[in-house]
Amino acid sequence: MTDDLRDLYQDLILDHGKRPRNFRAIDNANHHALGHNPLCGDKIDLFVAVDEAGIIQDVAFQGSGCAISVASASMMTEMLKGKTEAEAAKLFDYLHHSCTGKPADETGLDEDAVDRIKALAGVRDYPIRVKCATLAWHTLQSALKSKAKVSTE
Ligand code: ZN
Repeated sequence: MTDDLRDLYQDLILDHGKRPRNFRAIDNANHHALGHNPLCGDKIDLFVAVDEAGIIQDVAFQGSGCAISVASASMMTEMLKGKTEAEAAKLFDYLHHSCTGKPADETGLDEDAVDRIKALAGVRDYPIRVKCATLAWHTLQSALKSKAKVSTE
């Protein structure tokens, strides 16, 4: 990624933090989970509607948190619409590895999603922020398994 592109995506994170997309509840969601990052105070209430074919039809969230947790959740909702649960799981692995500095394999992943995740992965230089950036995704895992509550601790 070039420096210009990196700046562009950092602007994107700021924008999503200020004006989150899909910030609402979904009445007919068949998956739901609450996520909490006690280190920062981030809270997320995540709704997912998955159809019978396993395709994510709608994702939305409510809650409150720091700009990084809100931006990450907002960008996640945009990335996941139309994806299968299996694709969502691969993106989660990619994000998790990228944010913790492990080798991350982007083979077969949506290029736009990969670029957004690379921008978010800038948090790996600030370990306390990694939980902010990954909270929405941990909550997604929990929602898809339909566990009631998730904590990063
Ligand atoms: Zn946070």
